[in-house]
Amino acid sequence: ASAQIGVTGLAVMGRNLARNFARHGYTVAIHNRTFAKTQSLVDDHGDEGTFVASESVEDFVASLERPRKIVIMVKAGGPTDAVIDELVPLLEEGDIVVDAGNAHFPDTIRRENALRARGLHFVGSGVSGGEEGALLGPSIMPGGTRESYESLGPILEAISAKVDGVPCCTYVGPDGAGHFVKMVHNGIEYADMQLIAEAYDLLRQGLGASAAEIGQIFADWNTGDLESFLIEITADVLQHVDAATGSAFVDVVLDQAEQKGTGRWTVQNALDLGVPITGIAEATFARALSGGVPQREAARGTLPADTTPWDISDRDAFIEDVRLALYASKVVAYSQGFDQIAAASEQNGWDIDRGAMARIWRGGCIIRARFLNRITEAYERDANLPLLLADEYFTSAVGNGVAAWRRVVAGAALHGVPTPAFSSSLAYYDGVRAERLPAALIQAQRDFFGAHTYRRTDREGTFHTLWSGDRSEQDA
Ligand code: NDP
Repeated sequence: ASAQIGVTGLAVMGRNLARNFARHGYTVAIHNRTFAKTQSLVDDHGDEGTFVASESVEDFVASLERPRKIVIMVKAGGPTDAVIDELVPLLEEGDIVVDAGNAHFPDTIRRENALRARGLHFVGSGVSGGEEGALLGPSIMPGGTRESYESLGPILEAISAKVDGVPCCTYVGPDGAGHFVKMVHNGIEYADMQLIAEAYDLLRQGLGASAAEIGQIFADWNTGDLESFLIEITADVLQHVDAATGSAFVDVVLDQAEQKGTGRWTVQNALDLGVPITGIAEATFARALSGGVPQREAARGTLPADTTPWDISDRDAFIEDVRLALYASKVVAYSQGFDQIAAASEQNGWDIDRGAMARIWRGGCIIRARFLNRITEAYERDANLPLLLADEYFTSAVGNGVAAWRRVVAGAALHGVPTPAFSSSLAYYDGVRAERLPAALIQAQRDFFGAHTYRRTDREGTFHTLWSGDRSEQDA
């Protein structure tokens, strides 16, 4: 028993995580269902640190010092349960089992319960950054008991990404909190990607610019407030030329976006919580629309557009408008995502520190960005901030771009460019800031057809109007 940490599941993610632990000086126990992967890790990278390879789960468990810390990095769902079931009988009280795969958080809650009953710590941990992040420093979002974090936390922090010397890993909260936060991270990632795609489409259709020219615009944007990994790779992708055809690479890629499901989970959960995350939802549906081949076939060339050509006289002003609209829409999407975290935290008693989540997303993960510092600062000013958008920094940052945002969304509508995320974000902005909403009419309609009652602006209580009678009002 000599290894400080173990990794089971040595496909791309587990292999790179194991190497990352080893490169940081930890002795790493390694195991995989199929031994060939374990062997190849030792053969290819054994010189990067100290690995203790085992063929059987029994030997793997026996090779770890106590309390054992075992990271499971296998396919999410059934395979994770299978591995847990295999490990648990071999473990002893106080041992820590980490599921670092993309589990759905209700599964994590269930597994944590089951393992706690056996005196074991179960840590559901989000890991973001893909293959490269796993090796060079991911963003890590561990849930579970605080007690488990005392011994596990320093090891995870050591291998995580660092920004200004600060690890992109912190304790998130009990049971499902870590995987929940990872899920919302992915939802925000969907929104961010969709917004960037809409900005690209606006520049393409509005200016008639080439992919490469737009790539240069994104590269310029990446030197300012929008600086982020996603903007950076967008600039790179747009300037990439397809070797086979000589065309812009983006022009030869089939325009049907796929998904693995974390965006869908985020939206489903937001519906359950009743939190409007319109940016993430529109982004998820936009992928669905793009993949709706029969519907698109039926509509293409059939549905009248009735648009006029987009004649933009001031090219630079339009580019700046799109940049401001992108930034504002992005702030809305993040604000909504953080609302969802707050609501779930409240419902589950997780006590998640939203500022800390923004801090650990600054590096390692897909949504890493300069402006996450601003979010952390906002929650430092007020940990209970009811609306990120209403923080003083964002009020002015978004406020400065509102006129541009309106011009872009109006222009897109007039000229037939679909901008579901830009438009819905602006509608959310106008909705949430409205003095009065037409929800009053909805309440009246509900009372009319279903006696669902309403409250009044001028006095306390719940009321019902006898719509089909003499229309007098009753206390309900
Ligand atoms: P895969 O999701 O492709 O899973 C392959 C691994 O799972 C192999 O080690 C495989 O073992 C093992 N496995 C599958 N079924 C079983 C089973 N029934 N019992 C035991 N082991 C099993 O690997 P990835 O490395 O891509 O991802 C690992 C986890 O990390 C997943 O949960 C994924 O969602 C998550 N993740 C992935 C990211 C990525 O960018 N790929 C990013 C962040 C998280 P064998 O070799 O024997 O087949």
